[in-house]
Amino acid sequence: MSRTVRAARGTALTAKNWQSEAALRMFHNNLDPEVAERPQDLVVYGGTGKAARDWASFDGITRGLTTLDEDETLLVQSGKPVGVFRTHEWAPRVLIANSNLVGDWATWPEFRRLEQLGLTMYGQMTAGSWIYIGTQGILQGTYETFAAVAKKKFGGSLKGTLTVTAGLGGMGGAQPLAVTMNDGVALVIECDPERARRRVETRYLDEVADDLDDAIRRVTTAKKDKRALSVGVIGNAAEVLPELLRRGVEVDIVTDQTSAHDPLAYLPKGVAVDDWADYAAKKPDEFTDRSRESMADHVDAMLGFLDAGAEVFDYGNSLRGEAKLGGCDRAFDFPGFVPAYIRPLFCEGQGPFRWAALSGDPADIAATDRAMLELFPENESLARWIRLAGERVAFQGLPARICWLGYGERHLAGVRFNEMVASGELTAPVVIGRDHLDSGSVASPYRETEGMADGSDAIADWPLLNAMVNTASGASWVSIHHGGGVGMGRSIHAGQVCVADGTELAGRKIERVLTNDPGMGVIRHVDAGYERAAEVAGERGVRVPMKET
Ligand code: NAD
Repeated sequence: MSRTVRAARGTALTAKNWQSEAALRMFHNNLDPEVAERPQDLVVYGGTGKAARDWASFDGITRGLTTLDEDETLLVQSGKPVGVFRTHEWAPRVLIANSNLVGDWATWPEFRRLEQLGLTMYGQMTAGSWIYIGTQGILQGTYETFAAVAKKKFGGSLKGTLTVTAGLGGMGGAQPLAVTMNDGVALVIECDPERARRRVETRYLDEVADDLDDAIRRVTTAKKDKRALSVGVIGNAAEVLPELLRRGVEVDIVTDQTSAHDPLAYLPKGVAVDDWADYAAKKPDEFTDRSRESMADHVDAMLGFLDAGAEVFDYGNSLRGEAKLGGCDRAFDFPGFVPAYIRPLFCEGQGPFRWAALSGDPADIAATDRAMLELFPENESLARWIRLAGERVAFQGLPARICWLGYGERHLAGVRFNEMVASGELTAPVVIGRDHLDSGSVASPYRETEGMADGSDAIADWPLLNAMVNTASGASWVSIHHGGGVGMGRSIHAGQVCVADGTELAGRKIERVLTNDPGMGVIRHVDAGYERAAEVAGERGVRVPMKET
């Protein structure tokens, strides 16, 4: 059965109040064909990250949200609605737990066994917590990462440099635009022509080459002319990257965003895209061995570029871990992107703050863009981002915006948006959320918490405390997931979303949540011994009992 889902727009309510209407619209928005990678399978992004377990659960969640009162809470267990309880109006309207497994059982084969029994679902990060906003959601983080690479190694700009990467999926599709926004040239290897076409359509990718020779010609010319350009090439990264190395193409930066976190979502060499799903379903063990071997070849080529002097990093998809299992002993010779570029931002509670206009009207996002520029006039990189995003980002589904804000900033934006709803400057409420990839909401030793100063990489108390403090502070929905980004057994993370419905109560909740949530990032990094985090806590008044005398 094929079903098309799209969020309602405008000011008429389907649910009983805006708090649950917002959850309903964002849940449906995650499955909008403009937003989701495979909506017919309820898959939103990131390999198999889903919004609901199955279509019966989809209908159950829709029913639950539509009938929910202002003092009730819907419980969702791995994409299935399992209960409604009377709580109170400060409590979240929805509590979500996705893909969580007890430690010793937290492996892909066991997860798949349970999934096949219909008992669980992979929620990725924002798929199962209903705050995915399309590729823009990762764009600014990707843009900031490449800006940090430029600053570290290329004098502040990627002009005249060539970045080679792979994966043009929901997240990976942001890479080409992030590189060209930094004035560089990007060559992106993608095995599925349909994915590449989609990125051209949404203006994330400039063009697709006819073949590898053509791709090399286009990118080397653009690099020589110091002209920003992104080119997609259809092929398998485990074959194309070694070939680029063999041909001696001068590459400055190498990374990857294929879905390497799930060996069944990485295409092994010698397998056709059309045979992928069937082969992976029928022979998962054999497929896993082959994809790990291919990942080892892929990483070997990355190491070749590293040895030749290129800037090489893992872009948060577990490629190094899987390649190591495939026999590549040097896989961890290059770093993950968080320790390499992002951790100083995390020390300030910075992370991917995002919001979506429930009206469906792009003018509402334009109004919030103006409000952000007025709120933070001294922040030049924010101003540059908001201007570029306004010009270059095509909305997918409900209009939305993302930008990185830190402790002491996010609540100002949230409270202002709520006032704009109240005054009628915005035509309908907005939701304000974030990725789980944030400063204090995730334990992920191959990504966000790789190489922590005190060795606390695998300590997962922090995301649990994060979910609890957001629940206690008045978030509209809160989630705890396992395995997002890097796969089963490798991460635990939490999310929160607030609804700015223009009421005084919403204003008070938003003020607390958007203070305490990034505050978790500051205290997590203070605790790990980061000096910058201690400074931020001192300057901005974050209380840390162990630092008080
Ligand atoms: P996706 O599943 O939507 O896309 C993955 C793409 O890789 C697909 O288009 C697929 O065809 C392609 N691919 C798979 N194997 C390939 C191969 N051998 N050669 C060439 N192309 C191949 O996933 P996504 O949402 O784009 O996420 C990509 C990865 O990045 C995931 O592992 C995800 O967990 C991770 N991720 C990273 C961040 C970050 O901040 N760095 C954030 C979210 C997700």
